[in-house]
Amino acid sequence: MKVVSVCLLSGGIDSTVAATLVAREANTDVVLLSIFYGQGAESAERKHAALVADKLMATFPNVREHFTMTIGGAMRRTQHRPVQEEWSRGFVGWRSPRNGWEKAGYPSTRDEVFTLIAVAGAEARLRDLPDVVRAEVVLATNGDDLANFADLKPSNFIGHLQEIVDGKLMPSLGKPVEIRLPLIDLSKQAVVTLGRKISAPLELTWSCYFGEPGAACGHCDQCRWRREAFRAAEIEDFATTVKP
Ligand SMILES: [Zn+2]
Repeated sequence: MKVVSVCLLSGGIDSTVAATLVAREANTDVVLLSIFYGQGAESAERKHAALVADKLMATFPNVREHFTMTIGGAMRRTQHRPVQEEWSRGFVGWRSPRNGWEKAGYPSTRDEVFTLIAVAGAEARLRDLPDVVRAEVVLATNGDDLANFADLKPSNFIGHLQEIVDGKLMPSLGKPVEIRLPLIDLSKQAVVTLGRKISAPLELTWSCYFGEPGAACGHCDQCRWRREAFRAAEIEDFATTVKP
């Protein structure tokens, strides 16, 4: 009687702590899933997600798989209709918030989409593995995220998604899939403190929205939140010493 837990892993602090937390649970097999979508620091996130995944798999035998997935796409230029310069950059175009409507890094429907992709992986394992009776999808959304990104209200964000998931095949056959947010009541600082307590590999994580491997920008919201959280938790941040 086992649980399969699909943990979305960006390689940042929160997802690393959440995955470590779940990996320590008995009778749980962990699948790590990293999805890339042309975000500002994609190459850095790829590198650090792999570093964290390798470390977790080396530490916990129940961390079984690390999948990476890329959602890509490029604007086509045609002879008849060339790309206009005054148009969005990329399909989502989230990198250059305008008019003060959104914070830098605002992920639009990213978390909803990624959750349902993770549910597909969870269902596949419920179907294929007879001794697995329950699955969960783990999102590392923390309490500070709720304040910083107004669309991430648990009532409308997770409630509706869970309703969709409950109607899928395996849950309707009695093998439930639960969307789980283990860090939702914690501040960023509390997540860092928890991470140190459970020996999560914080030194391998990446936070910056814009920098490249080995060179965080030091100025974006994520860099600032990371610095404040490590300082408040009285932990030295070794992450910047990780070389490309
Ligand atoms: Zn930064």
